[in-house]
Amino acid sequence: MGANYVGVNYVARPWESRLFRQCRRAWDLGARERQNYEPIEPAQVFSFSEAIHDALDVYYFPGMWEWNREIVRPLAVAGFEKSMRRQRNTYTQTRELSAEQVEDWDRHLELGTGLLWRYFDWARDLDRFTPIGVASQFDISLPDPADPNRGLITHDSRPLQYRVRIDLAVIDDHDLYWLVEHRVVTGSQWPELDELRLDEQALTRSWAWQLAFLAKLEGTIYNELRLTQPDNGELTSPVKVRAVPGPGGITTQRSTESFRRTHLPRTETEIARHGIGVALEMQDMTDPSVRIYPNPSWESCSGCAYRPPCLAMTQGTDENSVLETSYRKRTSEDFEPGRLGSVWGFVPEVYRVAEHRARGAEQ
Ligand code: SF4
Repeated sequence: MGANYVGVNYVARPWESRLFRQCRRAWDLGARERQNYEPIEPAQVFSFSEAIHDALDVYYFPGMWEWNREIVRPLAVAGFEKSMRRQRNTYTQTRELSAEQVEDWDRHLELGTGLLWRYFDWARDLDRFTPIGVASQFDISLPDPADPNRGLITHDSRPLQYRVRIDLAVIDDHDLYWLVEHRVVTGSQWPELDELRLDEQALTRSWAWQLAFLAKLEGTIYNELRLTQPDNGELTSPVKVRAVPGPGGITTQRSTESFRRTHLPRTETEIARHGIGVALEMQDMTDPSVRIYPNPSWESCSGCAYRPPCLAMTQGTDENSVLETSYRKRTSEDFEPGRLGSVWGFVPEVYRVAEHRARGAEQ
């Protein structure tokens, strides 16, 4: 695991890889190593998913794992409420909320609080693990796919690094390591199992975590929460259980109307092959002759933060005035201050992994 020296190492992040794949124009405008623009004003009043993640970061915080859950539950709900307020305050720094926005925020605050209380009841018997790291961020040096003992460098000799953040790392009852992915699901259907198998975010995080901590991961635990109405009889509805064999072992799923927990074992091969893909893509990304062009599709463009300057470029009007008035160059670190994991929440995972291994060696 290497430190990042700004301007010396070329640092990329999963969201930048995703943009590079979706649309090179958006990547060129937004990536930190490219033009590094971000919109001055947030596009939405709040992200419900972010607030739920913030609550779960508190709930699974390793330093409080031994605490009575009755004490931790209200702290986690307070983390959710605090996150919703923080996001709304950021949005309203320069704008007023409309009546619909106020109603939407109030409704989600209430729904989210109810969802979390029901989740804690549901998860109590399923959380058969010990958290070792929550919302932790780390950098890895990118191995050269042609010679894994060497690190990749750019054409002007800058070492390539990848900066990853994970939701949660745990050790289960059998002393196996898993990465947990918290997901807020919208819509009436749970995602297909193949969607989870192919989930590039989990594969990238797994590959990076193994490289950083030199420990083998068993796989991914998907912890999915779906926003349903509170009166759906959650606690009396039967839990559906499913077991599906696969190359990494048996995938198990337990689900109710609002929650689903999937243990998806992964093979060494799939994680390693995914890592090679990340490294090859980063070589394309840092190639001095990389070509920049837009890749419009409504699926990407509808939620694109760079649509106004992109439209100006496409229509031949002045994109610079759009960039000057509505965008700024990022000055913040990757972690926002105040978030668990960045200020007081960082758990030195590497020590916990080492400590756990040492304990195992003594036995
Ligand atoms: S609006 Fe579409 S084409 Fe333009 S930068 Fe964004 S994703 Fe690319």
